[in-house]
Amino acid sequence: MSMKLAVVTGAARGIGLATAKLFLEEGWQVAMIDRDGPALGAACEGLEGVLPILCDVSRPDQVAAMVEEIMSGPGRIDALVNNAGVADFGPIAETDLARWRRVMETNLDGVFLTSQACLEALKSSNGAIVNIGSISGHRASTLRVAYGTSKAAVMHLTQQQAAELGEFGIRANCVCPGPVRTKLAMAVHTQDIIDAYHDAIPLNRYGSEREIAEVITFLCSDRASYVTGQIVSVDGGFESTGIGLPALRS
Ligand code: NDP
Repeated sequence: MSMKLAVVTGAARGIGLATAKLFLEEGWQVAMIDRDGPALGAACEGLEGVLPILCDVSRPDQVAAMVEEIMSGPGRIDALVNNAGVADFGPIAETDLARWRRVMETNLDGVFLTSQACLEALKSSNGAIVNIGSISGHRASTLRVAYGTSKAAVMHLTQQQAAELGEFGIRANCVCPGPVRTKLAMAVHTQDIIDAYHDAIPLNRYGSEREIAEVITFLCSDRASYVTGQIVSVDGGFESTGIGLPALRS
């Protein structure tokens, strides 16, 4: 029997790349999907067992071609990690429809489309879906009207998938990362935001890509065979906590 295959979107850098590497360590093959060709090429260098595919997950034609390439090559999909995402922090009044759509088409449409395109393959493997949400989908904050709303929708989409796909043996879960110092986050995290996260996180630090990848790969594995429909925060305690932490710190 061939090795299990994980499809990881947004795999050229950040959390997606860390997830791809952890799957490889655990003996999986990985289809690494990204829209940034040069970064994807660089990320794949020296990695064995990877199939890099250039694809924009917001484009139905490209998503269909990507799944076709996997099914006519390795011929199986055992896990899908819908990780590709964009961030855009801006006030409501300045978020015009084009800005709103740019966030929604990747963060929400991309998750819906890619999951749908992988459905038959996941049925055959009794596979798993892990969607990447965010603490910004759990708790509203300033400037996150499009980003936060897209991530809240991903959390609910995950539950819809779990409800409907369980009868095919497909599990669907959502991982909500706290702040991680990636390209996406550093483009929108000002020093004020960085300080505010430190104040609000019991562990008092950003997470690492690897810490997020550990939970993603666990949820895709047989060790999580009875876990579905769950929204798991990997956030140093942010989501569980209210105000007052800085006052207690010495
Ligand atoms: P990165 O920017 O490091 O990596 C994301 C990758 O996805 C980039 O290579 C990006 O390309 C690619 N991508 C974006 N849109 C598409 C698309 N439509 N089709 C294919 N590839 C695409 O981001 P992170 O690792 O930080 O983010 C990964 C996920 O984690 C995202 O869903 C994000 O929202 C979520 N997250 C991240 C947090 C953080 O603090 N880092 C916190 C909470 C959630 P390009 O550079 O061209 O956009």
